[in-house]
Amino acid sequence: MLNLTTNTPEQTIVWGKQLARFLKPGDVIALSGNLGAGKTTFVKGIAQGLGINKKQVNSPSYVLIREYKGKNIELFHCDLYRLDNVEQISFLGIEDYFDREGVLVIEWAKRAGDLLPDQYLDISIALLGEKKRGFKVKACGAKYQALINTLKIVIK
Ligand code: ADP
Ligand code: MG
Repeated sequence: MLNLTTNTPEQTIVWGKQLARFLKPGDVIALSGNLGAGKTTFVKGIAQGLGINKKQVNSPSYVLIREYKGKNIELFHCDLYRLDNVEQISFLGIEDYFDREGVLVIEWAKRAGDLLPDQYLDISIALLGEKKRGFKVKACGAKYQALINTLKIVIK
C-alpha cells in the first residue's frame, strides 16, 4: 500500500502525471472516492502524462466511457456513477476494454463489483480538507504490487 496526500488540484495532476510514466498497455486503475474527491482531476493528470491534450479530458458521466489517443498508449476513461447495477455495467461492455491495449481508468469502480479484472490498481481518494486529498493506493495482483514498489522509490 502507498499513501500520499495532495494539497492542491495542481498537485493531484502532477501525481497523475507521475503515475502515467509507469503505466503499460492493458493496465486497469479503479478509482473510488466521493463526488468532488478529485477522481476526474487525477485522470486529467494521467491523461497529460500519456501525452493527451488536457483540454479534451472531462468527466465522462453522460457518455460513460471516452477514448483518447495518447502518444504511445490509448486511455479509456469510464465513469460508472450513473449506473447502479452490474447488468448495466456489463451492458456498457467494460470487459471488452480489459483486453484492449490501453490504460483503463474507472471512476466509481466499486459499482462494477465482480466485473473488475483479477488484477488492478485500486486508488481511493478521501476529502481531508478544502483542498487536501488523501490517496490510498492498493495493489490487487502481483503486477500492481511491482508498480507500487516502483512508485515508492520514485515519488518523494
Ligand atoms: P470527482 O471526479 O472525484 O467527482 P473532480 O476531480 O471532478 O472530482 O473534482 C474535484 C474538485 O475538487 C475540483 O473542483 C478541484 O478543483 C477540487 N480540488 C481541490 N483540491 C483538490 C486536490 N488536492 N486534488 C484534486 N481536486 C481538488
Ligand atoms: Mg468525476
